[in-house]
Order: sequence, then C-alpha cells, then structure tokens
Amino acid sequence: MSEKNKTIVLPNSITVRDLAQVMETSPIQVIKVLMANGVMANINQQVDFDTAAIVASELGFEAIAETYEEEEIVEVGEIPMWRRMIMDENPKELVNRPPVVTILGHVDHGKTTLLDAIRHTDVAGGEAGGITQHIGAYQIEHKGQLITFLDTPGHAAFTAMRSRGAQGADIVILVVAADDGVMPQTKEAIAHAKAARVPIIVALNKIDRPDANPEFAKRQLSENGLVPDDWDGDTMIVPVSAKQRTGIEDLLEAILLTAEGMSIKANPNGKKIGTIIEAEIDKSKGVMATLLIQNGTVNAGDIVVAGSSYGRIRAMFDYKNKPIRKAGPSTPILIMGMNDVPQAGDIFQVVGSTKEAMSIVTERKIADKDSRFASPKATLEELFSRVQSGEEKELRLIIKADVQGSLEPIMNSLNDLASKEISINILHAETGNISENDVMLASASTAIIVGFNVTADAAAKRMAEGEGVSIRLYQIIYRLIEDVEKALKGMLEPEYVEVIIGKAEVLAIFKIQKIGAIAGCKITAGEFKRNAKARIVRKEEVFHEGEISSLKHEKDDVREVRTGFECGIGLKGFSDFEVGDTILCFTKELSTES
Ligand code: GDP
Repeated sequence: MSEKNKTIVLPNSITVRDLAQVMETSPIQVIKVLMANGVMANINQQVDFDTAAIVASELGFEAIAETYEEEEIVEVGEIPMWRRMIMDENPKELVNRPPVVTILGHVDHGKTTLLDAIRHTDVAGGEAGGITQHIGAYQIEHKGQLITFLDTPGHAAFTAMRSRGAQGADIVILVVAADDGVMPQTKEAIAHAKAARVPIIVALNKIDRPDANPEFAKRQLSENGLVPDDWDGDTMIVPVSAKQRTGIEDLLEAILLTAEGMSIKANPNGKKIGTIIEAEIDKSKGVMATLLIQNGTVNAGDIVVAGSSYGRIRAMFDYKNKPIRKAGPSTPILIMGMNDVPQAGDIFQVVGSTKEAMSIVTERKIADKDSRFASPKATLEELFSRVQSGEEKELRLIIKADVQGSLEPIMNSLNDLASKEISINILHAETGNISENDVMLASASTAIIVGFNVTADAAAKRMAEGEGVSIRLYQIIYRLIEDVEKALKGMLEPEYVEVIIGKAEVLAIFKIQKIGAIAGCKITAGEFKRNAKARIVRKEEVFHEGEISSLKHEKDDVREVRTGFECGIGLKGFSDFEVGDTILCFTKELSTES
C-alpha cells in the first residue's frame, strides 16, 4: 500500500515497468491508469516525466523531476567535453539544450544522402526543398525539439576535434549499409565514438536494396560491441533508406530518446564557450568561422578567442545565412571578424576585451612551442607508471595485425592479462598497416598502438612522432603479450628510442681546417645538447644522422644552447651542411618499439 502523497523522484523518461517498481505497484495498475488517460502503453514503453507524474498522482504519489547534478558528472575515463565545460556552472541554471549529432560511417554507406534526407524533413524550416545549407552544421525541428547536425566530412574531422581535446558531438549516428555490413571505417568510427564516450545510434541504411541483409549486419554489429536493443542489447538500430527517405522519423525519434536519457545541459547565461567546427578565409569577407556554441549565449560584438586566433564578432549568421544578433547553446553560427583562421576542434571562448584576447593568444603560442618538444605522452612504461600511481585504471590499446587469424589470439591473450587493478581496453583491432587514423585515435585516447607483422606507414610515423604516440611492432605473438604483461607488472626492460628535443636552422657554413665544416645555426625551438644526436633534414627528407661533435656559443664550447640563440654545430664525420638545412636534435629515451 502506498502512502498518500509520498514523494517519488522520476527521470525525464521511464518505462512502465520501472515506474510501477518505483511506486511498488504492478505494471498492470500503471497501464490501467495510462489507458484511462488515453495513453496506450505496453510494459516496456517509455513514458515522459509529465505523463508519469499524472499516473503517480492518481496512485497517490507526488512526482518530482530528477535533477542531474553531480551524479551525472562523476564518470570514469574520458568525460565528454561538454560536461567538463559546464562543470563549474551553477547546476540550478542548467537547462536542456538540443543534442548535437554527427554522422560517421564507411565511405559510400550513405552519410551524405542521410544528412540530405534529414535536412529535407525540416518542414518547420518552411523552405520548399529543404534548407540551403551554408555552413557545416544545421538544425532541424522534430516534434517541437531542435536537433543540431554537424555536417563535417566523416570521422577525420570528428577525430581531429577529439584529439585536440574538444568534442562537439553528443551523439554519433553510425551509418551502416545493410547490403555491405560492417566495414573498416565502420569499426574505426565505433572505436572513436566509444573512446570519446559518445553514444552510438546505428542507422541501418539502404534497406530498400534487394540485397540488403539487416540480420547479417546486426550480427556483425553485435560482434563489434553494438548489440541491438531487440536482441537485449543497448544499441538502437534504426532501419532507414536515406535514398527513399524512409525511417528518418524513427531515427530522429531515437536521437531524441537518447538525448533525453543523457540529459544534455548548458547554462545559457553562463560562460560563453564552444567548439570551432570549420573556418576558412573568404577573399572579400576575411576569416569566416563556424562555431558550435556549447554554453552561454554569444552576441554580435563579443570578442572571441580560439587557439591562436581572436577577434570581435563583426557579423554573425545562422545556418541559413540569416544575420542574427545572438545565439544560445547548441546553435551553430557563422562569424566574421577573427584575425586568423582557427583550427577545427579548437575550443573558443568569449573574453572581456581585445587586450585579454591578445594576452591569451600570446601565452598559448609560447606554451605551444614548448609542448611540441615534449616527450611522448603514451609509452607503455609511462602509462604503466600512471597506472601504478592510480592516475590510470586502464591500458588502452590499438591492435593492428597482418591477418584476421592473428588478431583473435592476440586480443584473447591480452584480455587475459587484465586484472583487478587495471583493465585492458582494446579500442580498435583490425588488419592492415598502422595508419594516420590509428595514430589520431591513439593520440585522442592516450592509447598505445601495437602492431603484429605490420608496419607503420611514413605519414603515421611522422604523426606519431609529432603527437607523442607510442607504436610497438612485433613479429612474434608471445613477445607482444610478454611485453604488455611485463609493462603491467612494471618490469618492462627499458629499451631506448629517440625523442626530439630541439630544432635549428642553418644560417651559414664555416669551413675549418682539420675539423671540417661547422654550421652556424639559430635554435628555433627546444634546445641542443652536446651529448645528443642530430639529424639533418633537407627538402623534407632526412639527409644525414649522426652525433654532435661540437657545440659552440660565440667562442665557447657549451653543453647546451636554447631557443633563440645562435650557435655553431659540428657533426662527427660530416661536412656537407647547406644553408637552409634544418637540424633536429634528439636523445634516446625509453622505447616505443620492440
Ligand atoms: P557517403 O560516402 O557515406 O557520404 O555515401 P553517399 O551518401 O554519397 O552515398 C553513396 C551511394 O549510395 C550513393 O550512390 C547514394 O545514392 C547511395 N545510397 C545512399 N543511401 C541509399 C539508400 O538508402 N538506398 C540506396 N539504394 N542507395 C543509397
């Protein structure tokens, strides 16, 4: 028996079954009350808070809405960026904002067609033939609720945004063609979304095709961790035909449902902050940047800083290219007035004055210079030491192997290594050489790339060096497993690998008898050390590598020279410097390869 007017706390949406449970009554009772109020519902159906509150009141309860304060924010691992953005906002001022959705998937599975189809459903927009889009994002209205779609070109942009610490999207729509199933980029997209903790809704596209095989695609999705909800999993898989524009309403419904469950909030009166979606220079208008506002309300005239660009908003447009004066959370806007092109994924903020903007930019430029020469952020050893100190609870790996047959035993053996203290999270496992995409994913998720009988292509190596991502290559499975195991136990023998610590430009060459040639250089970044090694880069190719034999500042032999200073650099057994050469200075530190 329920007490009169007992208070119960209900979420935005609840199933009939759960609602009955909260009130300690039978689901039949709830269904009866719903029916009496004209709502036909089955036991698994979701009802919104208002409906649930009516049922509750008829059964003698007072329902109050669940507020999402701290418990929503306490999460392990990577916290979605937008949550971090609102962490210091007053919870009382937080209101729901439209979900921001991005569409990922394998090439040709129908991303563009789907975005088009969705755009055309915007009858509320009132434009015949849908919205003519001007910027890389648009909004539609479905059942009175707005949804923002990012129309960025596939997951490269998503990853770039994520690896730079930003995260525009709240929900990922994964487009999978029902006639083709899970393909390499589908798996990559799953890995990216999972690593960023962004929920995935699958749009099972091209179901109109005679060779569509939805069941097969679902099985493949399950094998990749996306178990359909009708198979008792928690992934919504919505059959659609982007081409025939069927199933789109269901997809939008699924987005709203997912958004509701996540409680996506912002403070419209809070600090003005968001993400750069894209930016370019227009010959007559200057820098045009598309911004996604994630908190606060941005006004024309505000001063915006993003990365190392800033400026006063001279003009501001919505996604229909209509001039606007202000815009709130989840709104994509196009602005004019920045002094330079910010990068996609940069976080923007609004500051009080141009002076403040300039000082932020100057500080960033200095910090940026320093960090480019920072040591790797994810060697196996360093990750492990973070695990030991309690900073990390999981070891994230990306595994590439030559054949499918090697992947499984590797993954199984690795999973067996997980313990109470540390879990092993295989973000992505696939056949093929290590690519830039793998490195981006690793960088964004502080993961290590482990390769078995594969190589890393040149672009991937370059990017790994720049991003400080560790790539370990193996030819023997047990050595791979053994290394990870040793790392987990903190016993990995250090092997040495290079870390670039400085960069110099050759300004002049001095020929000295007996000694050979000395390059007169200016150190442009980091520092040079006498006992380090050097690499000469000419026309973007490595020309020579060797030990530094002399390092002089003015007339003195010195042990190190820092950024901004000029110096003379001699290399053992090498005299072939040319003006314009770049010299990189590197030391050997803990290994990234085996
Ligand atoms: P994207 O590379 O993922 O952006 O794929 P596109 O949207 O460019 O679509 C690739 C091809 O698939 C195009 O020829 C589309 O016309 C076709 N396509 C997209 N959606 C559907 C669909 O629902 N049914 C059928 N039959 N074809 C589709």
